[in-house]
Amino acid sequence: MKSLRHFDVIIIGGSYSGLAAGMALGRALRQVLIVDSGKPCNEQTPHSHNFITQDGKTPEEIATLAKQQVEKYDTVKFFNGLAIHGTKTENGFAIQTATGETFRAKKLIFATGLRDIMSHLAGYAECWGISVLHCPYCHGYEVSNEKTGILGNGEYGFEFSALISNWTKDLTLFTNGIATLTPQQVQKLESHAIKIVETEIERLEHTQGHLQKIIFKDGSKTAINVLYAQSPFEQHCTIPETLGCELTEEGYIKVDSAQKTTVPGVFACGDNTTRMRTVANAVAMGTAAGMMVNKEIVLQEF
Ligand SMILES: Cc1cc2nc3c(=O)[nH]c(=O)nc-3n(C[C@H](O)[C@H](O)[C@H](O)COP(=O)(O)OP(=O)(O)OC[C@H]3O[C@@H](n4cnc5c(N)ncnc54)[C@H](O)[C@@H]3O)c2cc1C
Repeated sequence: MKSLRHFDVIIIGGSYSGLAAGMALGRALRQVLIVDSGKPCNEQTPHSHNFITQDGKTPEEIATLAKQQVEKYDTVKFFNGLAIHGTKTENGFAIQTATGETFRAKKLIFATGLRDIMSHLAGYAECWGISVLHCPYCHGYEVSNEKTGILGNGEYGFEFSALISNWTKDLTLFTNGIATLTPQQVQKLESHAIKIVETEIERLEHTQGHLQKIIFKDGSKTAINVLYAQSPFEQHCTIPETLGCELTEEGYIKVDSAQKTTVPGVFACGDNTTRMRTVANAVAMGTAAGMMVNKEIVLQEF
């Protein structure tokens, strides 16, 4: 590895999006380094769905197969570790790792994903991805028609209730305090037999991440199998921001249709750039980023 410290491209993040970018670049005969700290956002979910050919596999099975396929290309090298710093150099960029290595490349791709911030509600983090779900397209089919709750309020709570009513008719909106719904929204929810519970929640009772009950602060409880909720998020890696990459108002890295960030030579792909968070989308964006980076190098050097 020491003799190979200069690369055409360094990809930071070696999950679905980073590996897809690595495959496209490796097949384009580029010398590539993938730096990965091994913490994908979906690691706690037992099964991943809605990615054609891999439906129902564990997240790890999909990632392992992807890595095996990229490892076949001798143009692609791997470094298991955390990138902690990035700087612009005369001919490109330098990336420093937490263990003191420095790698240089002409271009960078950030496929670093997002970090979901867990609610302080007791039981929430343990159930995340198992029975506290963020996405019906990923997990809704498996829990259709089960006793389902939505943790939310106001516009978001209303819209999410409408969406999830597609998957179950046994639905309750838990606003965890006074509802901020309009009278029209309340009427609409009631007309679809969606219950509204305003009592504040004390904790989620579960067995190994599988929800059993919601325990309220007034001592009451209700049985429940599934709770949909949106967690706030932050960028998993802050190096793009320190390099000057602009973020959108929502907190995603701003990219154009070629996955270019606002900093020349720096590309980004996958969850860190989009609210369409799916494995399929991360892979598609990674493939595009790899192709676009290669094209940029070709055009600059031809
Ligand atoms: C609970 C849950 C369940 C989900 N279920 C599904 C599902 O069933 N189907 C589906 O299609 N999608 C699902 N998703 C969405 C899917 O997991 C993501 O869209 C996908 O993982 C995004 O891939 P990515 O490569 O962009 O980011 P990630 O998979 O999050 O990977 C980012 C990688 O970058 C690495 N990294 C970050 N910073 C650094 C750094 N500084 N140095 C080195 N490495 C770094 C991380 O360690 C990680 O390995 C789910 C998401 C969650 C949270």
